[in-house]
Amino acid sequence: MMVVFSSLNSRLFLSYVAVILVCLVLVSLGLLVFVQPVWALSATRQLEAAARATLPRLRQIDSPAQLHGLLAQAAEEQGARVLLLDETGTVRFDSDDGEWVAEALELVQHTPVGQAGFQGAFTAPDGGRWVFFGQPAPRSPGGTPQTVMFVAPREHLLAWFAENLLPPLAQAGLIALVLSMLLALLIRTWIAAPLHRVAEAAEAIAHGATGARAPIAGPSEVQALAHSFNTMAGRVEAAHQSQRDLVANVSHELKTPLTSIQGFSQALLDGTAQTPEAAARAARVIHEQSEHMCRMVESLLVLARFDAGQMTMERQAVGLVPLLRTCVDKLMPQAESAQVTLELDVPDRLTVVGDADRLAQVLANLLDNGIAHTHAGGRVTVAARQEKGQVEVAITDSGEGIPAEELPRIFERFYQVDRSRRHNRGVGLGLAITREIVEAHGGTVVAESVVGLGSKFTVRLPACTDEETGPIKKQEEA
Ligand code: ADP
Repeated sequence: MMVVFSSLNSRLFLSYVAVILVCLVLVSLGLLVFVQPVWALSATRQLEAAARATLPRLRQIDSPAQLHGLLAQAAEEQGARVLLLDETGTVRFDSDDGEWVAEALELVQHTPVGQAGFQGAFTAPDGGRWVFFGQPAPRSPGGTPQTVMFVAPREHLLAWFAENLLPPLAQAGLIALVLSMLLALLIRTWIAAPLHRVAEAAEAIAHGATGARAPIAGPSEVQALAHSFNTMAGRVEAAHQSQRDLVANVSHELKTPLTSIQGFSQALLDGTAQTPEAAARAARVIHEQSEHMCRMVESLLVLARFDAGQMTMERQAVGLVPLLRTCVDKLMPQAESAQVTLELDVPDRLTVVGDADRLAQVLANLLDNGIAHTHAGGRVTVAARQEKGQVEVAITDSGEGIPAEELPRIFERFYQVDRSRRHNRGVGLGLAITREIVEAHGGTVVAESVVGLGSKFTVRLPACTDEETGPIKKQEEA
């Protein structure tokens, strides 16, 4: 059963059949209630018609034998049973071979109809229920009143219903069934076909065609599904791509230092670097290159922890002014040797909530970049201020700047502007980490730059409100 009715088509059809059946049953019940009076009348109406066609002829009768003959003839003509009753209700004549003759009938209903006619029901001697239409007949030879009755067995309501109303209802049900089959087919092509195409796209992706997408078609729900599927497929493709890029970048970035380490260690081993100076140089290069690799691997580990959601951040009230001062002090020697003026412009107090060490890493990275990309005689300024619940730190340099087309990509992992002008510093992970840290603090970092004039990196962090410092202090106490 489950397998047979598992397709959308058959389920739709099944639901239609259920609806049709429920409708038919309700309509039948309703009809039964409404047609009951019609049903009660319909039998006596026929009898009345038969009686009215016969009675005028009775008036010319003058002998009982003639009367009986005429009644028998009428019964045959009208296809009805005709009785003649005397004034006590005893049957004097029965067109049905005189079966009930001499029986007394008890008329249970007696409703006058028109002129001198009446109708009703009675219980036959055998116990069956009958209906009748009666009219007075010519008097008997003894002068007593007589009644002619056209009688018919009372049909059961359900039998009457089955005979008269069920066939059209069944026909209607059949037509509805055929229509619902067509409708189910129509809806199948309307809903199931676009759904099927989404499934096909999923299948194609599963088989490696990562560029496959579902067509946006069909009813809006299916369109929404196709749209979500395509978004997801796009993300999966991007994730795949970035994974491939990462492996390519890591291998590429490791290759150069490893080649130099290999070369210089070889020189030490085979005695090519014989002089103490040459040996010292080889050792220095090996040390520098391994440090460079260490920094890269550390950066990658930090990013991997961010990706895995395992990066734990402290949430403490951090005084930004002392943090900035410490950073500037630390980088002052580097600025001095690059002959770059380093300036700090901050108010007395600025507080944010977060991880002081990570925030220091962000500021040091941006300051370091600023100094590294600024020519001698240039200047790097750090300015901070609070604005509408946000603390804004801007690091501005008068350096070489970043081309507009590269600007949107500088926060990407391993992205470096013009590799040829590299200062042999990082590998393009510094800004990626910076952005991860800032966003983990609920903040943003944006870069603006004009080639030849300089760059400005603005970090915005939510300012620490008094309500926030409360629980954080409590946390510290705990
Ligand atoms: P790296 O660690 O290699 O410096 P980053 O992620 O910090 O990498 O920076 C990415 C790229 O952005 C670098 O290639 C660098 O050229 C460029 N960049 C970053 N800061 C500045 C700046 N202040 N001025 C000019 N270029 C910059």
